[in-house]
Amino acid sequence: MTARKLFVTTALPYANGNFHIGHIMEYIQADTWVRAQRMQGNAVNFVGADDAHGAPIMIAAEKAGKTPQQFVADIAAGRKQYLDGFHIAFDNWSNTDSPENHELSRQIYLDLKKAGFIETRTIEQFFDPEKNMFLPDRFIKGECPRCHAKDQYGDNCEVCSSVYAPTDLIAPYSALSGARPVLKTSEHFFFKLSDPRAVEFLTEWTQDGQHVQPEVAAKIKEWFGTRTNPDGSTSTGLDDWDISRDAPYFGIEIPDAPGKYFYVWLDAPVGYLASLKNLLNQRGEDYDAYMADPQLEQYHFIGKDIITFHTLFWPAMLKFSGRKTPTKICVHGFLTVNNGEKMSKSRGTGLDPLKYLALNMNPEWLRYYLGAKLNGRNEDIDFTAEDFMLRVNSDLIGKYVNIASRAAGFIAKRFGGKLGPVSADGQELLAALRGSQGAIVAAYEARDTARAARETMLLCDRVNAYVDANKPWELAKQEGMEARLHDVCTTCIEAFRILTIYLRPILPHVAAEVANFLIVPPEGFDDVARPLGAGHQIGEYKHLMQRVTPEQLDALFEPPAVEKPLPGGEAIAEAITIDDFAKVDLRIAKIVKCEAVEGSTKLLRLTLDAGEGQTRTVFSGIASMYQPAQLEGKLTVLVANLAPRKMKFGISEGMVLAASHADEKAHPGIYVLEPFPGAQPGMRIH
Ligand SMILES: [Zn+2]
Repeated sequence: MTARKLFVTTALPYANGNFHIGHIMEYIQADTWVRAQRMQGNAVNFVGADDAHGAPIMIAAEKAGKTPQQFVADIAAGRKQYLDGFHIAFDNWSNTDSPENHELSRQIYLDLKKAGFIETRTIEQFFDPEKNMFLPDRFIKGECPRCHAKDQYGDNCEVCSSVYAPTDLIAPYSALSGARPVLKTSEHFFFKLSDPRAVEFLTEWTQDGQHVQPEVAAKIKEWFGTRTNPDGSTSTGLDDWDISRDAPYFGIEIPDAPGKYFYVWLDAPVGYLASLKNLLNQRGEDYDAYMADPQLEQYHFIGKDIITFHTLFWPAMLKFSGRKTPTKICVHGFLTVNNGEKMSKSRGTGLDPLKYLALNMNPEWLRYYLGAKLNGRNEDIDFTAEDFMLRVNSDLIGKYVNIASRAAGFIAKRFGGKLGPVSADGQELLAALRGSQGAIVAAYEARDTARAARETMLLCDRVNAYVDANKPWELAKQEGMEARLHDVCTTCIEAFRILTIYLRPILPHVAAEVANFLIVPPEGFDDVARPLGAGHQIGEYKHLMQRVTPEQLDALFEPPAVEKPLPGGEAIAEAITIDDFAKVDLRIAKIVKCEAVEGSTKLLRLTLDAGEGQTRTVFSGIASMYQPAQLEGKLTVLVANLAPRKMKFGISEGMVLAASHADEKAHPGIYVLEPFPGAQPGMRIH
């Protein structure tokens, strides 16, 4: 069989924030698939890129005081720690503001124009009268015209996945200023999806069972049907797609149309090709020749929220600009955390990928857990802390790693690290393991890693049953059983090698450590048929994986530290009556003068005007917090009828109010009270 030639991408993350766990899940899914392809000898180019354009980045960069380019570069610099951390091995990572993308996007547009698929129309568009700019789709919000969900963006609904024009929104408002936007006319460019050629092509392409999953095809079919428009009219087929935006916009200027830019969703998927071209340029390979190969297969991994862009606009753009259309769009559902609780960082319910890594949690636990849940269909999956611990500890530690740890010691200590011959029952077991190769490879191909993991764990069960039946730890104590011990342990090691090959797309780092331990080169699927054989020397066994602990999961989901109000540290005093309170005469006083007290580091001498026609002198223990000049001229609260007290530095005629913690050592600080503006010296406090 000749090797397949594959070009694989993941959706381009928008470059206005860090990766979240949803991104990591998609990358792990695609990375696992790519590794399984390479283990079959297929040639893969696996690329990603940042989606750099659009008004939200322009606005975020402005806020951060950076150019959009610098803003995107700073975000991109943070990507590597996530990708390396979870063993996600893209061949290239670029961004959509690259020269390759500018050139390719313009060329695709010009080719579409030549083919008669571009049209200009004067449209009415929302304009923010306060910000004085046409509002980007993402900055208009309102009610979805199809499902009536509130607070949806101007371009598509996150609840029902409808795509519509911002002007279709019910009760729109500007997310920039909150103002009700006004309609203004502007000339826009449209990609004519309503063209019968496009409708015919897309109907066939989406419904032929080849390019999307069946559940995705069913969803797309609805968009071709008759539907009711917001104004009550009905339409059939596809709407034309508005592909231009007015300046100011961070994007690619449309050829021969100054001040008009490609809508970010036009050049974003072109970024797949641009990142590939950038990679091939680096290697000195020819992009056009690569793409022209009819054997080349093109796979896009995406989430269910961007189906429209990838199954209608993107294949039509490619088709009618005379380019290769995608082989498959692989759609996954969303990842929820801890039983679908809405991910929220402030509540600590989300799964922060960097925190996971910072806690030294094994990235391959997560790869395995997600892999064991993803079945290749467009379905949501849930990360549950308890389930995660059970699954990883039971499968990876209890079933898989256990096999090696039960056999390796005897091989090292009793047989000098050399494998022996395998007798009939061992051969039978190994043959059964090899017999699953086809099913497991097929499961990987279908992105049904759940099935690949399940099949492999069933094989682990068989091997463990063999170990339990033969009890090498008892054979080791029995006289004359040396050969059988060697046979059983060798069978275990050969079995472990096969199981490792089956798990290698999911556990690349563990597989590399196993290869070191067994002293074999990195192995592909076909290597399951090639036993190490008697006499093969293996290396020293080192523990391959720790168990997940409840403490790690507690730490992972512990809400981030928030500034808690500092408790006063003092119980509330005994109740008093209003008459008791009335005995204390509290007055507003002006600090007319404030001086340091020679010989005291604690006290300040305050000269106060409490509206009595003469000033008072009060000593206050606030020198640690205030410079005298800070207090002069301020108003504060004086206990005016406190009996005068003779102090070391003079007589104190009252006391000013100040707050402090009961435990001043642990919580130092004392804070003078100041009334709201308007209070006058002498006013009594009631
Ligand atoms: Zn909706």
